[in-house]
Amino acid sequence: MKDDCLFCKIARGKISSATVYEDSHFRVILDVNPATKGHCLIIPKEHFDNIYDLDAETAGKLFSLATCIARAMRDALGCEGLNIVQNNGEIAGQTVFHFHLHLIPRYKDDGVQLAWTPHESEEAQLEEIRAAIRKAI
Ligand code: 5GP
Ligand code: ZN
Repeated sequence: MKDDCLFCKIARGKISSATVYEDSHFRVILDVNPATKGHCLIIPKEHFDNIYDLDAETAGKLFSLATCIARAMRDALGCEGLNIVQNNGEIAGQTVFHFHLHLIPRYKDDGVQLAWTPHESEEAQLEEIRAAIRKAI
């Protein structure tokens, strides 16, 4: 628990939230400023700043829970699709620096924009990048 962290307080129930699910490791809440109707956040109760800090066991449990919540959202909301978004760092759009997963239900003409511009690539450049990441694993 980090004293000055909003999501530590929400996850541990010290600040109230619209909770759709809770267990000993996670709280799932409705986003207070939703991208679309039913936008949920999965928040670990333990504090991790971002994905780089997350341990493998929590990550595994988290994604298992995400599948369960996604199915429940599909059934309850009747959404036509769903995006999973997870921001790390200010440049990537992170505004709350306690790891969380966004589950964003998608509806026809909902106005959500998650698109990027695809760029051309060169084989030599892809190979250099592939090798660098592979080496770092
Ligand atoms: P980020 O930009 O860090 O990926 O996402 C933070 C999300 O948390 C935003 O979508 C924002 O609307 C949501 N949020 C921020 N403060 C609160 C809060 O006090 N309660 C709830 N339910 N959501 C919050
Ligand atoms: Zn926290």
